[in-house]
Amino acid sequence: MWIKLEEFKIDEPKSGGIFLSYRCSGSCRHCMYSCSPEWSKDWISPEDVEEVLKHLSGKIQGPRTGPRAVGLNSGLHFTGGEPFLNYDLLVELVGTASRLDIPGTFVETNCYWCGDEDLTEERFSELKEAGLDGLLVSVNPFTAEHVPVENALRAIEKGKKCSVRTCWFTRRASSTD
Ligand code: SF4
Repeated sequence: MWIKLEEFKIDEPKSGGIFLSYRCSGSCRHCMYSCSPEWSKDWISPEDVEEVLKHLSGKIQGPRTGPRAVGLNSGLHFTGGEPFLNYDLLVELVGTASRLDIPGTFVETNCYWCGDEDLTEERFSELKEAGLDGLLVSVNPFTAEHVPVENALRAIEKGKKCSVRTCWFTRRASSTD
């Protein structure tokens, strides 16, 4: 059965994800985007993100539990690659999303940068201040080949301490608090 193009209806977007870059701190064997340190330092521009988010503002919906809650299939997430490889850009983009009143904003990370207690807390505190609602921690046997599991545990602990709602994601299970 054929459908005419003019009759083809695409629903408005309810959630979204923005890749900052394909560049990552490691190269997991299972990575669906083949991210790795080999990619060039080619980052999305703040201007492009602002333009996209202006279109999405008012359409993206937060979780049913509230606009500042976090759900894997709602809100907006920043990802890659590894967003924390360009931390200043990440803070700026979180601020842009907050200014445009995008609900349920969270960032995904493999926690390579969470080796230091103070730095981890400092960054979550700053991101919370910029408008970040949540954190999605990628931790699984593949990330564990290049990131200590202790880093993920530290990220979850410090995220909670800074009132950043935390979720963790493995290949087989996920959890939200
Ligand atoms: S940490 Fe994530 S983005 Fe980086 S290589 Fe692994 S799966 Fe890909």
